[in-house]
Amino acid sequence: MTTNLITGGAGFIGSHLSEILLDKGEKVIVLDNLSTGQFSNIASLEENPNFEVLIDDVGNEDLTEDLIRKSDRVFHLAASVGVRLVIERPTECLTNNILGTDIVLRYACRYRKQVLIASTSEVYGKSVNQVFNEEDDRIMGPTSKSRWGYATSKAVDEFLALAYYEEKHLPVVIARLFNTVGPRQTGRYGMVIPNFVRQALKGEPITVFGDGSQTRCFAHVRDVAPALAGLLAHGGAFGKVFNVGSQEEISILDLAKKVVEKTGSKSEIKVIPYEEAYSAGFEDMQRRVPDLSRIHALLGYEPKHDLEDILEDVIAEQGSCSP
Ligand code: UDP
Repeated sequence: MTTNLITGGAGFIGSHLSEILLDKGEKVIVLDNLSTGQFSNIASLEENPNFEVLIDDVGNEDLTEDLIRKSDRVFHLAASVGVRLVIERPTECLTNNILGTDIVLRYACRYRKQVLIASTSEVYGKSVNQVFNEEDDRIMGPTSKSRWGYATSKAVDEFLALAYYEEKHLPVVIARLFNTVGPRQTGRYGMVIPNFVRQALKGEPITVFGDGSQTRCFAHVRDVAPALAGLLAHGGAFGKVFNVGSQEEISILDLAKKVVEKTGSKSEIKVIPYEEAYSAGFEDMQRRVPDLSRIHALLGYEPKHDLEDILEDVIAEQGSCSP
């Protein structure tokens, strides 16, 4: 029986991935320090005899080494994510992201285990390409702006993973995740859809940052999590980077209008300058559309859920939690 270690498995994406692997009859061990993940995401899985959870840190090297040794595959999702968190706690973010990946790759290499490293579309930086291809140049802002530190930390993770592949033949694959949304995502660290839905359901102003003309493509976690499982199960993915996401593009202002319409909310839409929302000199990406041809060619990947499905699921979840 395949044993999967999922670092960050109590997080939003990790908990969906845990369910998928358990449904396939595989074993899942979750290692999560609950810094941004939540125990409630995986509480129901504890009844499954093939599931085990350890509340600890990837930085606890002895434990991480032991868990990697007893696993066949490692999904390294543990990271500091979310624009707000990254800007407010940059030291923690940089250290966690770089040192955590270093530890995982080191022991995966020692015990010859297959690894997936979760990266991010942030690594493309402020590129203004129409679509982002995995081989495109990256354009980073200055080191004085902490947002780019996150992008750089994940790019270092990618370089390290690819170096292990080249030099030590480690079977490692990199997934560059674009905006991923769905049930269990918290808005606490800045993510726009859970925030807009919460604001709409409470009748609070919907906070559109910048002028709202920036666009994003939102993918449902129910498309993204199976793609991660598929990438690691496919022997042809090693040593490569794959974009994972959706190409359905919408401006943030239109997203706000859609959320108001779908919730039937009376909330007003409030446009807030970036410097007020984040900090002086904040730089956002105007546009971010993935080229999905590489993952499509490998796995036949195509998102099955659109933005309507995403909003319906997030609204249903938050609606059922409101008093
Ligand atoms: N955003 C917004 N209001 C919010 C949260 C985010 O207008 O309450 C904007 C944010 O500035 C960005 C987009 O929505 O342009 C997506 O933000 P998110 O943090 O979800 O993901 P990002 O694409 O920035 O990583």
